Amino acid sequence: MNFAKNVELIVSSPKSGCINVLVPRCLIGNGQDVLGVSTDNEGLCPLQVEWRDGKISSIKGLNDASKVPNEILLPRFAEPHAHLDKAFSWSRAPNLRGSYQEALVANLTDYKLRSQDQLIFSVEKSLNLAYFNGIRAIRSHIDSFGKDAMSDWDLLENIRKKWREKILLQFVALVPLNFWQTYEGKLLAQRVACNGDLLGGVIAPPFNKKETFNSLLNLVQLANRLRCDIDIHIDESQTWPAAGLKLLLEILGQVDNEISITCSHLSSMGLLKEKKISNLANKMAENKLNVVALPLTNSWLLGRKGRSTLIKRPLAPIFQLQKAGVVVSVGGDNVNDSWFPLFNFDPINLMAFSMPIAHLSPWDRLGLSPFTSSASHMLSLQWDGTIQKGSPADFILLDSNSWVKALSERPQRKVVVNGEFLNEMPKRKKINNDSF
Ligand SMILES: [Zn+2]
Repeated sequence: MNFAKNVELIVSSPKSGCINVLVPRCLIGNGQDVLGVSTDNEGLCPLQVEWRDGKISSIKGLNDASKVPNEILLPRFAEPHAHLDKAFSWSRAPNLRGSYQEALVANLTDYKLRSQDQLIFSVEKSLNLAYFNGIRAIRSHIDSFGKDAMSDWDLLENIRKKWREKILLQFVALVPLNFWQTYEGKLLAQRVACNGDLLGGVIAPPFNKKETFNSLLNLVQLANRLRCDIDIHIDESQTWPAAGLKLLLEILGQVDNEISITCSHLSSMGLLKEKKISNLANKMAENKLNVVALPLTNSWLLGRKGRSTLIKRPLAPIFQLQKAGVVVSVGGDNVNDSWFPLFNFDPINLMAFSMPIAHLSPWDRLGLSPFTSSASHMLSLQWDGTIQKGSPADFILLDSNSWVKALSERPQRKVVVNGEFLNEMPKRKKINNDSF
């Protein structure tokens, strides 16, 4: 029986269905549901999952070893770090050498010249891809320091409303740190806080320690006054290991912080000696800092050295952070722009490419959680992505019976949203026919 046919047969009515699937054991929320059920050596558990009115109504273990299900069920994913506003701008702002500095120059030039139609194109194309690939929520940083920043946010608010049944959107205002001290910065911060969005910024070397300390202190205080969370690009670099993080921890030692702070990238921290990594990771855990590791863009941009291949690459020390109790998720970051030319808002693709870079394994709980439950936690989503009775029927079904095949063979995929199977992805031509 082929995959499509199988899916057709098991759908009994809208928002309801029943399917035999393999589910990662570490994503099963209630151990009672799988008592006595075998788990294969890749951590997959054979289950019958039934749902009604968009919610899981029952989960039963399957114990017939001769009938192993042919599909893997995963929760719809949360993308913890994207840049929807500049996705697919590569043709306008290419960066053929691939360096951080050249990416920044191309980004700034394009940002000044970008039209609102081009912004809409980037965001809509990204959301369409993300939706059909099985993403349910996205936190996106938005360049917000130009003259059109407020009207860009108006436009994004409309897009957020239009998409809210399909993808939950969270925005982070990405600006130079000292922008938050200006009049325009304070206005923007109020708006961001009212929306429940986040304040952002960038700390990357070389920077003036005193000025950066003051700007960051101001940001943390402003965010606390407004009860608004922060997500900053920090230490996306191969030099000055963890210099930005050290400043942040120094500040958090001096202020009462009540908001959630996410450190995106944190790449250069991985270059420190183990003892220093461990000390910093413990302080991060004490301060409840979250981390989004971004292996794809880090591998592409950082540590380039002419025609010699750098073997030691900057990347957030994911295992050591997890060991200290820091929540770490993995994000996709840039898509087809001056910072990273590849990628496509596909969470399975993200796993397949970043797992080898970061030594994460899908059959380990802490290897899978950065892509699933940790990302949901970081975005404060109502559902953490674990599968149990009462959970939303929001799934991806992969036509595969093992992780190795699923991540190697581009299996067919079905996406279930609120209990209903999505139709196929619109034809590629339709999505690409805009020629920005
Ligand atoms: Zn980013």
